[in-house]
Amino acid sequence: MAEKVKDPVCGMEIEVQQAAGKTEYQGKTYYFCSPGCKAAFEKDPQKYVS
Ligand SMILES: [Zn+2]
Repeated sequence: MAEKVKDPVCGMEIEVQQAAGKTEYQGKTYYFCSPGCKAAFEKDPQKYVS
């Protein structure tokens, strides 16, 4: 069974294995559907983490 996670930037549900990228922020790992979402998160992580 594939583990699903939510892309914090666009809100899309993705499977971990299919994530286009991931990044760690404040000890948590975040997964993204595309390099664009990853870049947006890394530019301003506070905007997407609450
Ligand atoms: Zn996304």
